[in-house]
Amino acid sequence: MNGVSIFTTDLAKYSSLAILGTACFVCQEIPDELMRCQKCKRMSYCSAACRAEDFESHEMICSLLQLAPTSTSSSKRREIFEREDPAHDLELDISLLFTAQDKTFREMMVERGNRVYTRAHRDLLLYEPRCAICLRSADDMRTLYDPEYNSLLHCPDCRAAFACSEDHRAQYRDEHSQQVENGEGLTECEMNKRAYEYSLEIVARGWTPMVTLWFPMRRRTEYSPLPSSWQEWFADPSNLSPPDSSQILNKIRTRQLSIPMSILHGMELFDKADADLSSLLTRTELEIVVLGAMEYELLFDGSACFEELLHNLPSVRRLILRFVGPNVRFGMIGPDGTLKEALDWDLCTLCKEKGVELKTSTHPDLYHEYVKERIAQAATGDGPAFEWPDIAVLFNSGLSLNYYKAEWSPTLDMLAESGVPTLCSSFLERESVEDESCLESHRCNIVIKRHKNPWRSEVLMKMVLTRKQFFTYNGFIQGFRGLKERG
Ligand SMILES: [Zn+2]
Ligand SMILES: [Zn+2]
Ligand SMILES: [Zn+2]
Ligand SMILES: [Zn+2]
Ligand SMILES: [Zn+2]
Repeated sequence: MNGVSIFTTDLAKYSSLAILGTACFVCQEIPDELMRCQKCKRMSYCSAACRAEDFESHEMICSLLQLAPTSTSSSKRREIFEREDPAHDLELDISLLFTAQDKTFREMMVERGNRVYTRAHRDLLLYEPRCAICLRSADDMRTLYDPEYNSLLHCPDCRAAFACSEDHRAQYRDEHSQQVENGEGLTECEMNKRAYEYSLEIVARGWTPMVTLWFPMRRRTEYSPLPSSWQEWFADPSNLSPPDSSQILNKIRTRQLSIPMSILHGMELFDKADADLSSLLTRTELEIVVLGAMEYELLFDGSACFEELLHNLPSVRRLILRFVGPNVRFGMIGPDGTLKEALDWDLCTLCKEKGVELKTSTHPDLYHEYVKERIAQAATGDGPAFEWPDIAVLFNSGLSLNYYKAEWSPTLDMLAESGVPTLCSSFLERESVEDESCLESHRCNIVIKRHKNPWRSEVLMKMVLTRKQFFTYNGFIQGFRGLKERG
């Protein structure tokens, strides 16, 4: 339960350590001596000046932070922690504690006339420091054992790993300095330091959707096959804008750009499997269905990244994007409380000049249900003739997880039977292996073998409310087309 992924503080101005309370909440600096708020004991300041600057906005959050833990009774929390279960068995319990706090926090905020519950407020709860061994927070220590308890001990190096006691710190030390799964050879401590460095870069530049989330403003005159890596891609000056883009910023941007680049990569591989490389060069219309979209495909103006498809495929005059899945609701609810039917996104001037057409639509249904409905509507004349998309993409779908299996199963069957080229990505290698066997059990004809995606996001993320799990958006990729012959 350590560390903070840098991207949860979207649109906010706080570094990972400021959220954890081990850097100044105002200037993000790491002081020799922390001045921790003695009431909530959660946020810290480097100086009286920084504390004064935050005084007004802190006042309200401070009292809510003090009240939030009361959303779960002490006896309930005592019961969780005194089972003495290993930390990873407590993850579900901890996430339920968080859910209760989150709800209380939100309600209290509205009650007090402040309707602005931001991602940063939520992060303060979500990333409440917890002991890496027993998962107790400082607040648990105070309310359950010792009213005088002040704050957890933190790793002096990364300041993002915590322990409730010297004893637990010693128990965790080895694990903290070992390489983590998917950590690209880095230890947890090093990963935490990287997260702080990345988040400082965002704080320093300010979060601007079209800069932090970004696509290059240029159109290619003809399709040129993708290079083999991000490194090569960023080495091409036409892919760099603004020219002062730093290496860290480039890495941060791969999280967003991973979406169109993975689609292009998949389309290249599908064409190669068909021995038909011409379709990328000549197609004038492209319809993509994004299944299970819920995050950067939709939020924070991130959908503009799809523009990179148009910029790479100059022959395409009409791009149709359909976002289908129950999670489409997140981030797509308009100010009047109804679901937006299309994305608020205007094509860039280069595309407009060229007369390119873009059509987006959102459908909060499971894909197989969506298709059945469209077919039925077409049959009764209530809708246009149904056409299958040119490609379907399932980003980080977790399709093999027990939790989602029932939902994905009929969709996979339908996609395989219809012969729609379908691209699937996953966070971890382990998941891509499970996805592969799931696709095989549905007799999906795998034409793109499971592999490490060269267009994966280069931002390693830490899963919240679980320990020691770093992951990468679109880390692994595979694809199928049609049904495999029996026998
Ligand atoms: Zn400061
Ligand atoms: Zn406070
Ligand atoms: Zn502990
Ligand atoms: Zn550390
Ligand atoms: Zn454009």
